[in-house]
Amino acid sequence: MKKHNFSAGPCILPQEVLKKASEAVVNFNNIDLSLIEISHRSPEFVAVMDKAQELVLDLLNLKGKGYSALFLQGGASLEFLMVPYNLMRENGKAAYFDTGTWSAKALKEAQAFGTVDIVASSKDKNYNYIPKDFTISADTDYVHFTSNNTIYGTQFKEFPKTDALLVCDMSSDIFSRKLDFSKFDLIYAGAQKNMGPAGATLVVVKDEILGKNNRKIPTMLNYQTHISKDSMFNTPPVFPIYVSMLTLQWLKDMGGLDAIEKKNIAKAELLYNEIDNNPLFKGAAAKEDRSNMNVTFLLTDESKKAEFDQKWKEAGISGINGHRSVGGYRASIYNAMPIESIQVLVDIMKNL
Ligand SMILES: *Cc1c(COP(=O)(O)O)cnc(C)c1O
Repeated sequence: MKKHNFSAGPCILPQEVLKKASEAVVNFNNIDLSLIEISHRSPEFVAVMDKAQELVLDLLNLKGKGYSALFLQGGASLEFLMVPYNLMRENGKAAYFDTGTWSAKALKEAQAFGTVDIVASSKDKNYNYIPKDFTISADTDYVHFTSNNTIYGTQFKEFPKTDALLVCDMSSDIFSRKLDFSKFDLIYAGAQKNMGPAGATLVVVKDEILGKNNRKIPTMLNYQTHISKDSMFNTPPVFPIYVSMLTLQWLKDMGGLDAIEKKNIAKAELLYNEIDNNPLFKGAAAKEDRSNMNVTFLLTDESKKAEFDQKWKEAGISGINGHRSVGGYRASIYNAMPIESIQVLVDIMKNL
């Protein structure tokens, strides 16, 4: 029996996507060749790339609005430096929200390019909330934040209003909910949290914001290179892109972000209700800022730990140990996680 996979990343993907992906590795679209042994410039793969890019813009409702969807390499971590390289002026300034480990890593990279204003931080409470008080100065080149803090289990519900460019690391909650994505100027996400295997990074960027900061940008790190070559400047990571395309098609077929948002809310409520109503458990994040993707929680009675751990392991649950910087447990309940798996966990918590 397949395990209930609560891993934070790489993470659960739809079963039917895994099946199709495995078939394509052996014989892609009945062409008697593997997806991973044909040219990325073959008509077969170009069609995959086109479809993946189209699905991204379609699902985010950004079609025809001046955005490009790129599949790059280097993970979200390389975007931490590509963003300032492409958007910060010489001696420029950027505003960063410090809401977790990934935000802190992002702002550290930006500090190599200019002034970084840390406009708000929740570090004082081990990042267990989303800071709400901040001022963004008028001469800021862009504002950067992390929409979902994968490790701490917090999520922005509203986004800052500002005239500066809005840049968002959506690695762990992209395609999980409806937002007005046209408010953002650049969105990036490593594929491995909600979209596909590790190895591809999605960047959605508004074309008109690029080429304006007068920096000499190395070719591979310049978003304009990849836009002009349609994400094929060099060999793209064909397998992660193909699997991402299949996942996006799966999402579209089920009704897109409207449908998945409803499912994700129901899943998160089921688990948070148990955490709030069961005296043996407590949530790790501030209630109003709780993530619908990564649910962090702690036992209130450590003497129950051995029994709880044994029970969830016996039930085929995998990947719910908390990150070492928070402790306790973290149930990552990304798009492909069925509510039935969450019910298995909730039943164990109830009967503890
Ligand atoms: C996992 C994660 C990253 C790092 O992604 P890589 O692709 O491994 O570089 C960055 N930001 C967030 C929010 C993440 O969850």
